Amino acid sequence: MALSSCKQTETKVNSTDDMGTYIPEKAIDEAVLELRAKYPEADYRLIERGVELVRKFWTSGDGSPDEFHKFCIDNYSNDKKTLADRFSRNLETVFGHFSRVGKEMQFPMHVEDGPLLPVDEIFASWSPFAHISDDWFDNRLAMILHLNFPYCSPDERNAMGMQWTDEQNAAVNLGLHFASRTPGSLQQDIEKISTRAELYISNYNIYMHNIVDEKGGRHFPEDMRLISHWGLRDELKSNYADRTETGLLKQKLIYDLMIRIINQEIPGEMINTQGNDYCPASNKFFRDGRESGFEREKDVRYAFLLEIFRASKAADKYSPLYPGAIERAFDQGLEMSFREVETMFTGFLSAPVNVKVGELIGRRLGRPLQAYDIWYDGFKARSSISEKELSAETARQFPDAKALERQLPDILQLLGYGRERADEICQYIVVDPARGSGHAMGASMKNDVSRLRVRVPETGLNYNGFNVAMHEFGHNVEQTLSMYEVENYLNSGIPNTAFTEALAFLFQKRDLEALGFREDNPGKSQLTILDNYWNAFEIMGVALVDMYTWKWMYANPDAKPEELKAAVINIAKDVWNKYYAPIFGVADSPILAVYSHMISYPLYLAAYPIGHLIEFQLEQHLEGKDFAKEIDRIFSIGHYSPNVWMTRAVGTELSAEPFIKAATKAVDEINAQLK
Ligand SMILES: [Zn+2]
Repeated sequence: MALSSCKQTETKVNSTDDMGTYIPEKAIDEAVLELRAKYPEADYRLIERGVELVRKFWTSGDGSPDEFHKFCIDNYSNDKKTLADRFSRNLETVFGHFSRVGKEMQFPMHVEDGPLLPVDEIFASWSPFAHISDDWFDNRLAMILHLNFPYCSPDERNAMGMQWTDEQNAAVNLGLHFASRTPGSLQQDIEKISTRAELYISNYNIYMHNIVDEKGGRHFPEDMRLISHWGLRDELKSNYADRTETGLLKQKLIYDLMIRIINQEIPGEMINTQGNDYCPASNKFFRDGRESGFEREKDVRYAFLLEIFRASKAADKYSPLYPGAIERAFDQGLEMSFREVETMFTGFLSAPVNVKVGELIGRRLGRPLQAYDIWYDGFKARSSISEKELSAETARQFPDAKALERQLPDILQLLGYGRERADEICQYIVVDPARGSGHAMGASMKNDVSRLRVRVPETGLNYNGFNVAMHEFGHNVEQTLSMYEVENYLNSGIPNTAFTEALAFLFQKRDLEALGFREDNPGKSQLTILDNYWNAFEIMGVALVDMYTWKWMYANPDAKPEELKAAVINIAKDVWNKYYAPIFGVADSPILAVYSHMISYPLYLAAYPIGHLIEFQLEQHLEGKDFAKEIDRIFSIGHYSPNVWMTRAVGTELSAEPFIKAATKAVDEINAQLK
């Protein structure tokens, strides 16, 4: 194994090459036998698990098999509570301060606060966390952790978590730390290729004025430059408002263009370059107005995905708890198994109501459905107040970031909080004017603040900015409550990013209320349910394509880019034909493969539909209840497994069923009104 040059200059070179194979298996039995004799009252299965885990992480550099044996005997503790408390205190100190340091280093990059210096980028990209895993394996703290707090799988946590005390849950959470011993050089490889893939995607723009129909007609304005796929999709969506032939034609052009991107037939010269024309329907390219030969984009999209796959796969053997990128994304990241997520998604996609929703959309459009109607947005409830009026109001209330910070308690009051509680929460939230788009940065210890970042133009915060700020504020309130209100540090936080996002949306959706407006729009709730439902329906198929693609790559690790391309297209068509074709009446569309997250943030897409499901269950629970009281309670639950968290929050496990039921009711009611 190649060690990075910085490693070689250190006195101790710990190669992780023989990790998991160096200690013979029989050493487990010997250590377990002795520990059982020493602690006859202890649960021997936990002893076994702990010793097995230490063996999986142990390398020859850590010491001989005799030393392994001695380590296990000496470091097994029968007083788990005291040991967990010590880890808890020290992890809070380390994680809390490191994250504070990291945030300070990134401050000039993130916040509009004086000039940006060339050194700022270097400060920002340095991470205090970079070597902690190496250090804590080398000094054996991570080994002591795994020996005493052995790993519990998501299925076990979901199944048994309800019976655990907070102390037991904390012990299990502790065992989730330091889950891999990936060499720094491999980690860097993964980061490098991810950065390149992100760059490829962020530069994948199409100049829409150069996209022509089969008669050479142009339909998009001169300055329109759209990023694939987000920009293309949003433009397609916006054309639902145009009920003329042109609206349809533009949607069709964008759809054809997307298919050419998926198939990689698009001329390389059309990407991020303007001047020449391209007709996606006929796949004809025009240089200086004349039809011309061209070189297609040669499967670059899939080559990137393969490179990311190979870099991730190389790290598998250093991650014994999560031995594949799929396990790291699901079991570790989402704390739900691939199988559990897949079952939930396919159940949702097969729900009988989907056909009815499709029929309703067809009726509202007055035409047969097209594959791109997965992006139908006509259920969206429009506000009765114009955006201009709203922007005038937000600019008046929030001329700068500090004005927003001062008024955060007022916003909480408008949402139903008492003044004292609102002040108490908001003392830990600081607002900064962002350089880029908005974001929220939480704290990893008590006594640190969480930061709300939003872009504030000279003329004051506009409505769009306020809407984003409300989303981030939701994150901040969650970050504050799930840190300060959770007694045990090891239980602080929430189950996964899908939960964070769902909680942020609860705030974002109440932005008008937070401005002091009361909206009265009958029928809004049926339409809102269907709007969210259709969004979830779309993104679930997209997520399945992402998931199955990674399964395929693991089954075909030596594939070439063109083979991966063929596989992705097949997978997308399979998912389409199974769940979408019966509703759309269109077969074999590969459109679900167009998402750019698949390339720049692989295996992340599943978090979105899970977020939709969580949000729905929460909204349903909140109906008719005291919003502030419930938010306070729910945001303070802490880091428990998804099903345990959900049961504590709303009384039932995470499930697609409530959403399906509500959509069925909404469609039936709308259909009854039409009769
Ligand atoms: Zn968010």
